[in-house]
Amino acid sequence: MDLRIVHLYPDLMSIYGDRGNVRTLERRAAWRDIAVEVRTCTAGETLDPEWADLYFFGGGQDRGQHLVGADLASANGAALRSAIAGGSAVLAVCGGYQLLGHQYAPQTGPVIPGLGVLDVTTRATKTRFVGDLLAERDGATLVGFENHSGLTTLGPAAVPLARVTHGHGNNGKDRTEGAVQGAIIGTYCHGSVLPKNPWLADLLLTWALRRRHGAVALTTLDDREEDAAHDAAARVARSRR
Ligand code: GLN
Repeated sequence: MDLRIVHLYPDLMSIYGDRGNVRTLERRAAWRDIAVEVRTCTAGETLDPEWADLYFFGGGQDRGQHLVGADLASANGAALRSAIAGGSAVLAVCGGYQLLGHQYAPQTGPVIPGLGVLDVTTRATKTRFVGDLLAERDGATLVGFENHSGLTTLGPAAVPLARVTHGHGNNGKDRTEGAVQGAIIGTYCHGSVLPKNPWLADLLLTWALRRRHGAVALTTLDDREEDAAHDAAARVARSRR
C-alpha cells in the first residue's frame, strides 16, 4: 500500500509549525509500512489532479493569501476542485482553511475569492484570537494553537469539526471550531495540530488511503508520547480564562 501527499504552497502558507502536519502524516503511515511520497505545489506550478490522495494546506498571513488566492483562481484551483471531487482528502489550517471557503475578506484590501469547496465564509476583524484551544468531537478532544483575525461562519453544507470548550475557534461566538465537508477538514488549530491529535491524523490517513485502496483499518500505534503532549496542551488551554 502506498500514500501520496501534496503539500500546497509550503513557501507561502506554512506558519506556526504547520509543516509538521505533513511530517506527522508521513511518519504515521511509514510506521505502518505504508510507502509514502510527498510532493509540493506552489503558486505558478502545475497541480496534477490525478496524483495525490491527500493535500495539506497550511496557514499564512494576508499577503500570502492574496498570492495563493490568485493561484487558486487559475487552473490550479480547478485542478484542486477536480482532485477533491475525485476523492482526495484535504487538511487545511487557518489561512488555508479560509481559502477553501467561499471568500476571505481581510481587514483591509480586496476580498479574496475562495475555492468554494467548503461551505464557509470568513471576514477579518480588528480582534485577533490568539492562544491555546481545546474542543470536543464525538468523545475525543482536539487541542491546538489559534492565531487569526478571521471570523468564519459555516453554511448548511459544512459541519463543525469540533465544539470549543476553551478558546475561540471559528468565530468566538457559536462555539464551533473548524469544518468538515466530504473528505475536507478545515481547522484553526496550528501547532502543528496533528502530532498532538493522533486520532485526527489517522482519520485523514484513512480517508486518503480509501481513494485508491478502499476501506483500510489502520494498525494501532503506541501513542503514549502523543497523548502526553495532547494532555499537556489541554491543561494549558483549560488554564486559559
Ligand atoms: N490571515 C488570516 C487571519 O488572520 C489567517 C492567519 C493564519 O493562517 N494564522 O485570520
